Amino acid sequence: SQFWRFDNRPEANINDSTFSLQQRELPPLEEGQLLVKNLILSMDATNRLWLGEREELYMEPISLGDSMRGFGLCQIVKSNSRLYQEGQLVSSLTEWAEYSILDANAVQAFVAPKDMPLDLAFGVMSIAGPTAYHGLLNIAHPRPGETVVVTAASGAVGCLAGQIAKLSRCHVVGTAGSDAKCRYLVEELGFDAAINYRDANIEDALRQACPNGIDIQFENVGGSILDSCLKLMNNNGRVVICGLISMYNSAQNVPGPYMFHNSIMKRLKIEGFVILDHAAEFPAMQRYLAQWIQDGSIKFKLHSHQGIEHASTALQSLYTGENNGKVLVKL
Ligand code: NDP
Repeated sequence: SQFWRFDNRPEANINDSTFSLQQRELPPLEEGQLLVKNLILSMDATNRLWLGEREELYMEPISLGDSMRGFGLCQIVKSNSRLYQEGQLVSSLTEWAEYSILDANAVQAFVAPKDMPLDLAFGVMSIAGPTAYHGLLNIAHPRPGETVVVTAASGAVGCLAGQIAKLSRCHVVGTAGSDAKCRYLVEELGFDAAINYRDANIEDALRQACPNGIDIQFENVGGSILDSCLKLMNNNGRVVICGLISMYNSAQNVPGPYMFHNSIMKRLKIEGFVILDHAAEFPAMQRYLAQWIQDGSIKFKLHSHQGIEHASTALQSLYTGENNGKVLVKL
């Protein structure tokens, strides 16, 4: 069966020589293992970090020659474990492959909420939803009337963080990389304002969109956008470092942020997190997310690709902004 092999560590952007599609035969199952068919692969910004050699990572980088790793929705074809049965759906860290062998202790049963399509359920519930929920509600604790800025706001995590902030009755401003994405944020998702960071003088635009300053910064991008936001933080503001995607493609550390000064001057609370640490809390968060999707108070777009052969280009779209919503590859 087919799988994507990791061939070359990218020096900057992922390119066509980073991975190659290969054939393999899987060994027989051992005790406690599952043979799964990977149905849907989730493309995540963090995948790029696993291809580098940084020392500071939350997980082992992928070795050259190994199969590419990713989150996925899988169906059990054969079970050598009492925990799961043939036919059951599980979500797991898996491989970019048609079939994989997984350890039964490392997967989670996956049940889509009633009447929700499987791809939508997986797209929202698996990683993006808990990330937005935890970062905004458990770390930033938004209060009605506060101003929340979300970067990469039209992406999977960002659009949810912004909409959950609206449900918390905040003034919500998003940044995104095109006018079309900005219109989507305001006209369809109910953001109060959106800024195209490619066009605007980001600082002027932020000052205009946040007349009362920023109370909560939900950061997905890093670099100069984060700097401009730090400048406008209010006293006792909260800065949630969810992601720094603008830095993932560079091997070297990027200087800055220059406005770190304000962590003292504005008495900021700055907190980063890795959502996988909170897996035990997922079911509780997923119940809220499912309800919001089902009652229409949250909208979520999928950007799906059909066929394992599109996995590499699908992942690359996250770093160019070509994606419009949560990127999935269906096998
Ligand atoms: P998205 O769907 O948001 O896609 C990524 C988006 O980032 C692109 O569409 C693009 O949007 C924007 N982007 C890419 N490169 C740049 C750049 N150089 N400068 C500015 N914007 C850029 O992906 P995800 O929802 O999967 O991830 C969003 C963030 O959430 C990432 O930083 C990721 O690492 C983080 N994350 C963190 C987790 C955690 O546990 N802490 C868990 C999951 C995600 P645009 O067109 O607007 O530029």
